[in-house]
Amino acid sequence: KVQAKVYRELNPPNLILMGPGPSNVDPRVLKAMSSPIVGHLDPFFLEVMDETVELLRYLFRTENRFCVPLSGTGTAGMEAAICNIVEKGDEVVVGVNGFFGQRMSEIVSRCGGKSIEVKAGWGEIITKDAVKEALSQSKAKVVAVVHGETSTGVIQPIKEISKVAKEYGALLLVDAVTSLAGCELDVDDFGIDICYSCSQKCLNCPPGLAPITLNDRALEKVKNRKTPVQSWYLDLSLIESYWLQGRAYHHTAPISLIYGLREALRIAYEEGFERRWERHKKNSLALTNGIEAMGLKMHAPNHRLPSLNSVDVPQGVSELEIRRILLNKFGIEIGGGLGLLKDKIWRIGLMGMNSSERNVVLVLEAFERALKEKGFPVKLGEGVRAAMELFGH
Ligand code: PLP
Repeated sequence: KVQAKVYRELNPPNLILMGPGPSNVDPRVLKAMSSPIVGHLDPFFLEVMDETVELLRYLFRTENRFCVPLSGTGTAGMEAAICNIVEKGDEVVVGVNGFFGQRMSEIVSRCGGKSIEVKAGWGEIITKDAVKEALSQSKAKVVAVVHGETSTGVIQPIKEISKVAKEYGALLLVDAVTSLAGCELDVDDFGIDICYSCSQKCLNCPPGLAPITLNDRALEKVKNRKTPVQSWYLDLSLIESYWLQGRAYHHTAPISLIYGLREALRIAYEEGFERRWERHKKNSLALTNGIEAMGLKMHAPNHRLPSLNSVDVPQGVSELEIRRILLNKFGIEIGGGLGLLKDKIWRIGLMGMNSSERNVVLVLEAFERALKEKGFPVKLGEGVRAAMELFGH
């Protein structure tokens, strides 16, 4: 006889999410998401869409008319950016210095393009000279790089690569999945032509949306394609008709997620982008001071991404065991390494509201205790003291 199974009420653990994302969701965002659903063409919702676009422009620092949240995670942003810009046979210079640069390169190839990979070590930046060389030896008219490489904790200087791309008449396509709202990013001033991000990292929204912006130069390339975009769902011309012109039905927008994003953007707007960037920088610096005072090393000391801080796992310490202790004893989630850096680094996210003095002190204290438990010679209190000094306490 089959017995009726009991399905209990959902009761997920309430953790401090300090990994590579998702980050904790702001209670204001959760509240906005529980608002009543309206139709996706309801006049109320159309107003919400307009305001969301305006706020996105503010945060991307752009005057671009095309600025919308795509329905899908960060990878949908990546896929949309590449599959709309790249046609069969196009050469694209792709910076590969981590897991996500590699993913970009793979998507370029799947779109029928030829990816010319400019490589750098996982923990290093892509140099402008290497990009210049690749452009001078190819017919590439697009350069794609990751601004905040989440797999390594490296922030890529964009302006100098942008200058080189312009010299060769190439479009600059930038992944800002881990940098938007967490470190200095100015789409117009940096000279970025196509830029995408996600909702679940420095914006403290649930995963599911990918803000994207294109300038007129990039849109012209999309409009002049010889072949239709292979993906109907991510065809930016069709999405433009829904979000920005005429409001023609394309797909049913994820209403609640857009309510949430609007609230998250409103929070960032209230703080102001400069104050927000500064806060992320300061907390990352305090964390770094604490980590180094503990006798550990940052993985990318020269190009540190404030929203994602990578720490080398010292010899003789199990990366996984330390993460388990943080999770089970302290309710803190941090990340391990990806791809080439698997087992070699920890990744500590300080994203959006999670970039706070409280979280820095908390994670340092927990880290010290976990390391001590596993026999790593650490003096309790050194890390926290170093961070506190930077905070001026
Ligand atoms: N690009 C970067 C730099 C990322 O860190 C991530 C995810 O962590 C992605 C792209 C893909 O985003 P998603 O996992 O939301 O699809």
